[in-house]
Amino acid sequence: MTTNSKIALVTGGSRGLGKDMALKLAQKGHNVILTYHSKLDEAQKVITEIEKLGRKAIALQLDVADSASFDSFVQEIKVAVQANFQKDKIDYLVNNAGVGVHANFEETTLEQFDNMVNIHLKAPFFLTQKLLPIFNNGGGIVNIASGLTRFSFTGYDAYAVMKGGVETLSKYQAKFLGERGIRVNIVAPGAIETDFGGGAVRDNKELNDYIASLTALGRVGMPDDIGSVVAFLCSDEAKWVNGQRIEVSGGIFL
Ligand code: NDP
Repeated sequence: MTTNSKIALVTGGSRGLGKDMALKLAQKGHNVILTYHSKLDEAQKVITEIEKLGRKAIALQLDVADSASFDSFVQEIKVAVQANFQKDKIDYLVNNAGVGVHANFEETTLEQFDNMVNIHLKAPFFLTQKLLPIFNNGGGIVNIASGLTRFSFTGYDAYAVMKGGVETLSKYQAKFLGERGIRVNIVAPGAIETDFGGGAVRDNKELNDYIASLTALGRVGMPDDIGSVVAFLCSDEAKWVNGQRIEVSGGIFL
């Protein structure tokens, strides 16, 4: 079973949305490589949960802000894939890892902007590029964007600009990788209760209620609203879905 399974790599799979994606990908039958930045203990809990589902998972450390480390990270993946799954390539990639920054247009510093570029734009671009030699033809990539590319919330200016860039990147990737049968799609979550942004959507009741009031389904999102959509896109059920942006927000600002 393990050797026939596909391999999915999820960046930032230790918590929040990435954790749910890793679990849903395992439920789809995939083995999972998840990355963490600082919370190895959380990553290990995800591995245990995946093993309970009868799949195999490993965790590797990655700082997506450090693009100079991507070459050695890809080498690490290569070695780990061989050692743990007896394969030489991965099948799916979910570019998910990231943090936000809260500053409006006037307040945003060059340092904050550069950090957002590195994490949300440079990483999906160059990490994906460097993974291509160890990517199976016929696989798939999901880039995590945000509802904030379709509507604006003051304070997310620099962050949303990067997510807009990720959406454009996804279309170019889909076109370029089509000849290898690799599909590239975008999942754009609405506001979800995770640690993101200091956990504001989850912990600030006023904000939570406000977002719920803007949403057709009358609540904010939960991590398990997202992972199943990503897992669908990383499966043959979505074999004809390519270059698409799927917003998963319960219908905010309709
Ligand atoms: P969380 O804060 O809950 O989790 C962040 C994850 O990313 C963790 O696994 C963390 O690792 C990892 N991470 C953070 N910084 C880095 C870094 N520099 N290098 C590598 N990994 C890093 O966030 P969410 O799960 O909510 O967010 C996941 C994605 O979804 C992000 O791209 C975010 O922009 C996007 N998104 C989130 C929304 C929301 O409302 N939550 C809405 C729309 C989009 P560790 O655990 O080790 O710290």
